[in-house]
Amino acid sequence: VPDAAALDAADPLAAFRDRFVPTPGRIYLDGNSLGRPPRETAARLATRAAEWADRLVTAWPDWVDEPRRIGDALAEHVIGARHGEVLVADSTTVNLFKLAAAVLAADPERRRVVVTDPGNFPTDRYVLGALAAEIRWVEHPTPDTVAAACEPGDVALASFGHVDYRTGERLDLAGITAAARAAGATPVLWDLSHSAGAIAVDLHAAGAELAVGCTYKYLNAGPGAPGYLYVREDLHSRLRSPIAGWFGQRDQFAMGPAYDPEPSIARFHAGTPPVLGLPAVEEGVRLMAQAGVEALEAKAAALTGFALELADSYLAAHGFTAVTPRDPARRGAHVALRHERAWPACQALAARGVIADFRAPDILRLGLPPLSTSYADVETGIGHLRELMAAREFDHFPARRPRVT
Ligand SMILES: *Cc1c(COP(=O)(O)O)cnc(C)c1O
Repeated sequence: VPDAAALDAADPLAAFRDRFVPTPGRIYLDGNSLGRPPRETAARLATRAAEWADRLVTAWPDWVDEPRRIGDALAEHVIGARHGEVLVADSTTVNLFKLAAAVLAADPERRRVVVTDPGNFPTDRYVLGALAAEIRWVEHPTPDTVAAACEPGDVALASFGHVDYRTGERLDLAGITAAARAAGATPVLWDLSHSAGAIAVDLHAAGAELAVGCTYKYLNAGPGAPGYLYVREDLHSRLRSPIAGWFGQRDQFAMGPAYDPEPSIARFHAGTPPVLGLPAVEEGVRLMAQAGVEALEAKAAALTGFALELADSYLAAHGFTAVTPRDPARRGAHVALRHERAWPACQALAARGVIADFRAPDILRLGLPPLSTSYADVETGIGHLRELMAAREFDHFPARRPRVT
């Protein structure tokens, strides 16, 4: 096993770890669930609160364009989209609903058949299930299996998570997008929650038409931070939000009698944007922009590769099996280890100050956001897991999980 200190010394992104609020006495390996706060963020949020106090309603002209301006930065530096194609607003769930419903409504001739993955994130499965007349499931989607599902020509929409929230498996964004289009003229809506800010995402290079994602995981914007949506520019005029809200209205403050949406990406706004939370999104995106997505991609591959090596050497003997793909091009920035005692082991790990997480029924996830995680964090964390397994410390923790994991 390579030496963590040597890997950290050679890491071009090493200095970024100090841009986050330290976690004394703890090793945080759960940034895939809630990212760590950048040091600058508290000051940015305090400034926003002061602006509110000082300027009151007169600050709105400055605030009103932020969802688009920060969306442009996210587009340019993190997800490979163009200016004017990304809006920071609402939650990922609401954005997914808006775009999926808009696609289904745009093609009323087609039956509402939606293709998705049984391993897709729950909110995605629930929202799509509620909108669809029929869900066609494709397990571990590939261009070929998605093409086969779309072939009958009756599929109005396909939607997948770019990186599987449990296993860490990365799907072929470009290949699946092209295959769905070619086989059934089916647009694909991607959920980037576990990829944007973790690995290189280039939506335009991949030919992607639609995407949504969250900012409180790998973009470090804090609990409840707004999500974002991407709609390729040529689709703006054809898609209408199912939420005919006033912030999407053309000349909004004319307060006109009937809904007439903006021609731009602003048409996908619903109501008032989450102004208090936006500076944190901007700060998270700024860090990613400074690092660059190619560097993120390289470090995610190296960190997850290191974690898999350690898992093989330290944990296989204790019954853990890695379910994350071995090819770095086929995974994101977290590693999933399967074990029948994963939940008690996760609690025993937390008792030692190592925060990881658990996904039912038997997966321990180690989230390794490239900017805030060192190789030493990975080695120490997995080292604790080896020790506690050897000492059977998991026997002291309940086997049943609580409401929130
Ligand atoms: C975290 C996550 C979400 C979260 O949706 P919210 O609306 O913010 O609760 C949605 N989809 C995926 C794939 C996620 O990983």
